[in-house]
Amino acid sequence: MEPVFPPARWWHRADNSDNGDVVHDVICELCPRRCRIAHQKSGFCRVRQNHHGQLINAAYGRSTGFCLDPVEKKPLYHFLPGTPTLSFGTVGCNLECRFCQNYQTSCSHTLAPLRETASPAVIAETALSLGCPSVSFTYNEPVIWSEFVVDTALECRKRGIKTIAVTNGFISQEPAAWFFPHLDAVNVDLKGFTDDFYKRLTGGSLAPVLETLRYIVHETALWLEITNLLIPGENDRSEEIHAMCEWIARELGVDIPLHFSSFHPMFRLMRHPPTPPETLIKARQIAREHGLRYVYLGNIRGSQTHTTVCPSCGSTLLERTDYGVVPINIDLPVPDTNTVTAQCRQCRQVLPGVYPPRMGIWGNKRQPVSL
Ligand code: SF4
Repeated sequence: MEPVFPPARWWHRADNSDNGDVVHDVICELCPRRCRIAHQKSGFCRVRQNHHGQLINAAYGRSTGFCLDPVEKKPLYHFLPGTPTLSFGTVGCNLECRFCQNYQTSCSHTLAPLRETASPAVIAETALSLGCPSVSFTYNEPVIWSEFVVDTALECRKRGIKTIAVTNGFISQEPAAWFFPHLDAVNVDLKGFTDDFYKRLTGGSLAPVLETLRYIVHETALWLEITNLLIPGENDRSEEIHAMCEWIARELGVDIPLHFSSFHPMFRLMRHPPTPPETLIKARQIAREHGLRYVYLGNIRGSQTHTTVCPSCGSTLLERTDYGVVPINIDLPVPDTNTVTAQCRQCRQVLPGVYPPRMGIWGNKRQPVSL
């Protein structure tokens, strides 16, 4: 028997006047691809399917598995630092990045990896019972299973659990205005800063991602951090990094944390070399020249690559090693007040983000969870 899924949002019936028939094609409006999907076929992302002229989300209530991760692994460095986040994903993607680190699930041609099932309420209850302050939609692109994300976020909000999306930001504008306000924090993977890069290496385009970033900052209360993976010879030219950092500072503001991440040969880019540490260090220098205050270097070891430094007096506020966080010169919010920002103990500079009254001590543990 075919499983029953709730109807998806963001689609309309196509005009099938050519074959004048019974079962309609549908047009998915969720992301800029706007796939036309025939009966019993899927869109590019594989999880949105046409069943008898209705679009369904075949990933609803299903997952590849659940895990407690450090929130720093998303990466989010200014959102509930030191705490675990109940993380899960599904299969499929609306991009096809040649360097994808999760290609086994994001490029899966079947739904077979969706071995687990769980309702939104069960996921939220599990987070609550584990004492976990957030749930993360991650490992593959949450936009394509957004109905499941939003219903889970609603259940989490009822229980005081925050929600996080790790996304490529490749979503149409109207669905974005429905999707994002249900969440509390987001990490957007800004994969490069030229349309040529997006077209050649991701199969998408840059403009919708920039539109999403502007929307999140100017129209929502979400906490935003950005990740940029630097791939040698593809998106690591100084001019491109200058252009990206200048745009972030001008359009989004200098308080948005930026994570430069190093590439390792993966998927269809096995012949590209890993990112040299000097490229990351140079990228951080460029970002600072454009005034960005919180710039982090991922996937490399070294002094200060993950440290949060007060932009006003230079004091070390938070040190991180292997996702563990150590508070140094930081005053966290007083419990039972509405304040969520921290402050530099030396000069009282406000540290933007969302901080717990007591620093989490989850460290770098990764713990599978059965629901
Ligand atoms: S969400 Fe999926 S089905 Fe819809 S337009 Fe994008 S790729 Fe196509």
